[in-house]
Amino acid sequence: MKITMLYGGQSAEHDISILSAHNIVQQIMFDVYTVQPIYITRQGKWIKGPLLEEPSAFPEQLRLSSAQVESWCDNEKGSSTGININPGDIAEEDTVVFPILHGPNGEDGTIQGFLEILNLPYVGAGVAASAAGMDKIISKNLFERAGLPQVPYIAFDQREWQSDKEDLIARSEGSLLYPLFVKPANLGSSVGISRVTDSSELVEAVELALQFDRRIVVEQGIRAEECEVAVLGNDDAHVSVVGQLVKQSDFYNYDEKYINNTVEMQIPAEIPDHIASQVQDYALAAYRAIDCSGLARVDFFLTNKGDIYINEINTMPGFTQYSMYPNLWLGTGLSQRDLIDELIQLALRRHERNS
Ligand code: ATP
Ligand code: MG
Ligand code: MG
Ligand code: MG
Repeated sequence: MKITMLYGGQSAEHDISILSAHNIVQQIMFDVYTVQPIYITRQGKWIKGPLLEEPSAFPEQLRLSSAQVESWCDNEKGSSTGININPGDIAEEDTVVFPILHGPNGEDGTIQGFLEILNLPYVGAGVAASAAGMDKIISKNLFERAGLPQVPYIAFDQREWQSDKEDLIARSEGSLLYPLFVKPANLGSSVGISRVTDSSELVEAVELALQFDRRIVVEQGIRAEECEVAVLGNDDAHVSVVGQLVKQSDFYNYDEKYINNTVEMQIPAEIPDHIASQVQDYALAAYRAIDCSGLARVDFFLTNKGDIYINEINTMPGFTQYSMYPNLWLGTGLSQRDLIDELIQLALRRHERNS
């Protein structure tokens, strides 16, 4: 069976996707599967690399940084190492697609819808769950209906902001306490997110977030530990142990996550058993609330009083060697090889059931 790895992509999380793909290809069981890498450039071109039958034949484009990959694609277009293809050309017998793409155009249901039309099995959540999970406003509404505790927030769009900025600032300050977190509704890796402590910063932060999305969430900041849980499965989903982020700062931003690597993971989290099992129950409830399948990582805040708040769900979480998702499963006794194999089997089972 062939695993078609789709990676790179047009979102701001392009680079993380390359790192995730790199890691997964190292861990795939090559005694059972072959790997067809398809790199999606930032501009949205699809480049087909050579078929891999062993990890040592790892293609250059997976090892390079994204800037190098872009120039590689321009130079090597049409050569034996990578050819431009039409997206529809990936439809082949005996293929499972692994769309290891984070953020919009990857994690948000768009690629999933395309794969449904091609009638290909694919790893991860389906169309509706991907879209609902990526959109922080929609997922907050679903979490609320599922009775999950969340920090107070308000949501609005560009049109409302442009027509009455002062009113939205007054509404934010009237119902939420500083510091506030301003987020684009659809993104990940903390891209476009700011922590703000006064009105002037709030205006700047909203303008920044509007560069990434038309819709914005403003949340009350909370002083809390951050815990994450991995979920795996379709209707029979199960949860990992709870992991904790050991933060040096109070905002786990893009640089802390990927540039400075200042964040350590504590797996399992050093928290009381009853809190851990409550967090796990909430993670499963969140998974079901968006009708997720395949996998997700659910993020929480945990205050020193023992209050738990759900922050968000990620339906295609980072999958690098250092990422929380594979490490949470490792801490639960599931190796990366077995985890990746299980994800492929889940994709096949969901496809069989739906077709
Ligand atoms: P990812 O998908 O990579 O986990 P994201 O871009 O979807 O990230 P969030 O997880 O919502 O963004 O927020 C990023 C980080 O910002 C959190 O991990 C946390 O450190 C901080 N943060 C976000 N919201 C709040 C809040 N309400 N109070 C305190 N800290 C927050
Ligand atoms: Mg997220
Ligand atoms: Mg994310
Ligand atoms: Mg998060």
